[in-house]
Amino acid sequence: MNTNAIYRKLAEKDKKFLWHPFTQMQDYVAAAPIIIERGEGIKLQDVQGRSYYDGVSSIWLNVHGHCVPDIDRAIIEQLGRIAHSTLLGLSSVPAIHLAEKLVSIAPDGLCKVFYSDSGSEAVEIGIKIAYQYWQLKGEPSRSSFIAMTNAYHGDTIGATSVGGIDLFHETYHDLMFAVHRVPYPHAYRYDGTIEQCTNHCLNRLRMLLDMKQREIAGLIVEPMVQGAAGMIMMPPGFMAQLRSICDEHNILLLADEVATGVGRTGRWFACDHDGISPDIMMMAKGLTGGYLPLAATLTTEDVYNAFLGDYSERKTFFHGHSYTGNQLGCAAALANLKLIEDTRLVESVSEKSQLLHDLLEPLRDHPNVGDIRKLGMMTGIELVRDKAGKEAFDWDEKIGIQVCIRSTELGMILRPLGNVIIFMPPLASTVADLTAMTKILQQAIGDVLPS
Ligand code: PMP
Repeated sequence: MNTNAIYRKLAEKDKKFLWHPFTQMQDYVAAAPIIIERGEGIKLQDVQGRSYYDGVSSIWLNVHGHCVPDIDRAIIEQLGRIAHSTLLGLSSVPAIHLAEKLVSIAPDGLCKVFYSDSGSEAVEIGIKIAYQYWQLKGEPSRSSFIAMTNAYHGDTIGATSVGGIDLFHETYHDLMFAVHRVPYPHAYRYDGTIEQCTNHCLNRLRMLLDMKQREIAGLIVEPMVQGAAGMIMMPPGFMAQLRSICDEHNILLLADEVATGVGRTGRWFACDHDGISPDIMMMAKGLTGGYLPLAATLTTEDVYNAFLGDYSERKTFFHGHSYTGNQLGCAAALANLKLIEDTRLVESVSEKSQLLHDLLEPLRDHPNVGDIRKLGMMTGIELVRDKAGKEAFDWDEKIGIQVCIRSTELGMILRPLGNVIIFMPPLASTVADLTAMTKILQQAIGDVLPS
């Protein structure tokens, strides 16, 4: 069979059997799917031999590119020993080594590692630990959470409950637990200065805590960048303020580093920008370099100790998944973290971030580019109908989708969030890669929205 015949067969079966995530299947089946067969470096190749830059790091997780010899080797070596054994009351060699490594790179004070398989689960676990913590501490009234406007923490019901994006979460309203909501600083959409925006958000949090402090278990936040909200960036110092407010009111700070962690923002963790440590931290995505589903929830000694007690006291954290701490995943993560250190990747993201800034700068002159938000290798370009009035394009116009379709035609996979074009290249993208990718990005926007 030639490649076109192979493609046609696969496309037919894809449409017949698969249901794709976050995808309107009616549109999907009406179009010709792209079917990826291989990866090489930061490029993906489809079954017809066309190659594309992986402009969103295969949904925000790829680190060194695809088919990385060191990670491949680590997985194969681990496979020669064992693929998986449970962590329920039993341990494993790579799970131990990885936990030690994670504690060494995590913000100070985070010293216990609880594994799971996805960012959503890591968040569920963080929420359940925080909730049970206060029961164990003898303060069961502290049972609710504060979450931020436009937050995204995953798609399971607990993670959905703390999520604040109506499009994704509203449908499930009756299934979710109620949370208190405070504003995330969104300078572009705030009518005032950054300082006013910051004060407004922090004051709302303080007011809420003054009234409800004894009911609150913790505050959950995406540090520095709200990814799924459209790459909304916190001003420097904001996380530090959140940390002190949580301390003043004796509530736990839960940092969701699922998207921002493992070097993505130019520091190991986004919390490092402000030099703060949360009480509970979730990580996933980049942990295995984009190879295998593995996540972790880290806690302080204080949180962990609350769960210790005599067997009869039933203080155990009754939570765990079949594949928790999967040995292949842990081996991949160890190889990924070693390679990050060996190549000084976190520092290089920070350096390349300035270059990326310069490469994207010409886009600011485009009449429909309202805002460019950037930190490390996380970028959001917000397209607007009218620059001065910041008027959004209508949902039905599918502007973001159109730009991403055009970009795919030009050789780069992108995925929008509404009118925001997300550009999240693998951390190891070179200067030449970034130059080529931003050229495509610029052309795709220009072709859909000629100035
Ligand atoms: N938290 C944040 C901040 C995320 O960006 C995501 C995924 N985009 C999640 C949690 C959920 O992670 P997963 O898709 O691995 O469940």
